[in-house]
This record gives sequence, structure tokens and C-alpha cells, in this order.
Amino acid sequence: MSTITKKSILSERILSMAESATIAMAQMARDLKAKGHDIISLSLGEPDFDTPEHIKEAAIQALKDGYTKYTPVPGLPELRQAIVDKFKRDNDLDFDMSQIVVSNGAKQCIANLSLTMLNKGDEAIILGPYWVSYYEIVRLGGATPVIVSAGIENDYKINPEDLRAAITEKTKFIIFSSPCNPTGSVYTREELKAIADIVADFEDLYIISDEIYEYINFAGKHVSIGAFENVRDRTITVNGFAKGFAMTGWRLGYMGAPLEIAKACAKMQGQFTSGATAFGQKAAAYALNADMTPTWEMRDEFKKRRDIVIAGLKEIPGFIVNNPKGAFYVFPDISAYFGKSDGNVTIQNSNDFAQFILLNAHVAVVAGSAFGAEGCFRLSYAASEAQLVEAIRRIKEAVKKLS
Ligand code: PMP
Ligand code: GLU
Repeated sequence: MSTITKKSILSERILSMAESATIAMAQMARDLKAKGHDIISLSLGEPDFDTPEHIKEAAIQALKDGYTKYTPVPGLPELRQAIVDKFKRDNDLDFDMSQIVVSNGAKQCIANLSLTMLNKGDEAIILGPYWVSYYEIVRLGGATPVIVSAGIENDYKINPEDLRAAITEKTKFIIFSSPCNPTGSVYTREELKAIADIVADFEDLYIISDEIYEYINFAGKHVSIGAFENVRDRTITVNGFAKGFAMTGWRLGYMGAPLEIAKACAKMQGQFTSGATAFGQKAAAYALNADMTPTWEMRDEFKKRRDIVIAGLKEIPGFIVNNPKGAFYVFPDISAYFGKSDGNVTIQNSNDFAQFILLNAHVAVVAGSAFGAEGCFRLSYAASEAQLVEAIRRIKEAVKKLS
């Protein structure tokens, strides 16, 4: 018998990684539903619409045409060219096809970037409240996440001087999403310019701009930070098909990056997963040049729902609600409920609050702590109007028990 102490079969890397709270909450809601509970899940950031029919048809045609083989790792040339054209047309961004990398979702783009750009000891600044996975993906890259955050009083948009103060010689990049997951906030042109001007002051500091909610913007035309002259060569623009085209399950995202970084990401991906699904890429190329009416219809529908949700949540005592301009999330501040009890449990934090809502209202939402904002929760309004109205009614009833 060996006397050697048994080590964990799992790496420290995975043992120290937090599970994705959005995915965990969505699974909890599915499990409860499967057990027969009447759960309304507003936890997952996933359009409830189906992929537009003409994009599905393009994928079917691609399958019939034999797009069933490996593609080049960074993507089919046809898709990369469509992305180059899209970046120019929609975003005033100039990329060559060699600077585009297509991946299995925007999530993989961000993981590629983190693993490719970060070393142990580096720092990456995450603008908060932030999308749940940025934090763990930065840690996976060995670096330290540094959070620069803002509260609801500032529409969850950071003060540029706080960003400046957080930058050190170790900072490799800043990362954020606008329109933002989880807050729905959209940085204006002026606000983006202020961020760009700060980054431009620091040599070798990069921006990862996650623009996956680009098309779900109620404030007007989307602005890409990479279009500002002083950060053009230092911005990596990430986007994808999941949200704007309701293609979450297709797993297709892309980036435009400085050539050295794009090549390195393709090298990384070549060892991990190779190119994304061939027939999906073919349909994605088609989608970028096809009729955008379904996308604008979905956006308009989301806007209608946002208005319903905001009006409903504002009526709940103790809820502080702002007016998000994009994506499909609201992020109310509910810290007024901390310390309150239903006689059974006392709400100490956002996780307790989300659990209380799940058990008492049978509505699944995600605790703000997952996004670096303890006083809040995220509600995804990618659900039918009837479900949203009912969910708000139930939440309103449930919190009445707290005093
Ligand atoms: N970035 C943000 C801000 C997101 O909300 C998501 C969630 N879909 C992603 C990236 C990942 O997108 P994908 O499904 O394309 O991997
Ligand atoms: N991005 C979506 C969300 O925030 C989907 C789940 C995930 O990928 O984390 O809910």
C-alpha cells in the first residue's frame, strides 16, 4: 500500500474556478420545472425568439452543399469577409480578413484572448457591473481581475477617472460590454471617448470591447470604441450571432483584432477546438448580408417588454430601477431588503434575495453578486409579456412577506 497522500484528480485551475452563476441558475430553474414546479425563468440571457427562418434555410442549404468538413481555424474566408464588411458598414472599423477569428461563441473569443494575452502577475481591468464570465476567464489566464464599477445612481456607467486610477504597469487590457450585460446600460459616444482617451495615454494597454448586444440598442446607433482614432490599433472588438440573430445554440462568435493577437488566438484555437461548425459559419455569412428586419422586430419587441418590466418593478417598494437603453436585462437595486426577514430567513445579500424569490415567487433571477454588484439582481426580460407580467406580480407579492 502506498503511503503517498492522495491528491485531487482535479487541477487547482478548475478547483478555484467559480461556476457560471447564470448557467447554474438556469439549470436550477429547469430542474425545478422538471419536478413539476411552475417556475418562470428570467435567469438566462437568451432570446426567447427562434432563429429567423431564412438563416435556418441557409444552414440547411449549406449542409446539402457539403459544408460538413473542417474549416480553416479562424473561419471560412466567406464568413471572415462578411465580418470585415460588417465591421466597416456598421462600426466604422477597418480590418483585413487576416485579423478576424471566428470561434464557438463570443465566450470562446474572450477565453482565447485571455489565454493568449495574459501572464501570471498581469492585471485586467473589468468595468462593472460585469458579465459573469469575464472574471473567471481573466483568472483562467492567470491574471488578477481588477474591478472598476459604478452604481445605479450613475446608470451603472463608470467614472473615467476611476478607470485611470486603477491602471498600473501590470494592466494588460480593459474589458467591458456595451450594451451591457447585466445592466442594459449603453455607453454614449462621449462616454466611450472618455474611456478611449484614458487608454490612449497608456502605452501597450488594450481594450476588449464586447459588442454582442450591438443590435439590441434602444438609444440609437451603436458606437464602437475601436473607431476612435487613438485606440483603433489597440482595440479588439468581440461580437457574435447569439443575441442579435437569436442564434445562441449555434455557438458562433467573432473578433476583429490587431494581427499579432488574431494570429495568436487562431493558434490557441487550433489546439483547442479548431474552426467553428462549417454549415453554421456558412449561414452566419449569409445572415450578415441578409434582410435585418427580423432583428429589428426582435429589438422593438424587447423595448416594449423593457417598458412593461420597468413600470412593474418601479411599483415594488424598496426597488430602485433605472431605464436601461439596451440588451434585455434590468438590474434593480434591492439592497433596501437586506436585513429584512419573513420570520424564517433573513435576507443578508443578493444571493439570499434571489433564492427567496425563487422559492417564494417561483421566479428565477440571478444574484447581483455574480456580476460584482451585491445590492442588485438581474432579470432577463427575454420572455413573453404574459410571463413577465405574471413574474412581476409574483415578486411583488413575495417581497410583501419581508419586513
Ligand atoms: N458576452 C456577453 C456580454 C454575453 O452576455 C454573452 C452571453 N451570451 C457572451 C459574451 C457569450 O456569447 P456567446 O453565446 O456567443 O458565447
Ligand atoms: N450570456 C448569457 C447570460 O448572461 C448566457 C449564459 C452565459 O453564457 O453565461 O445569461
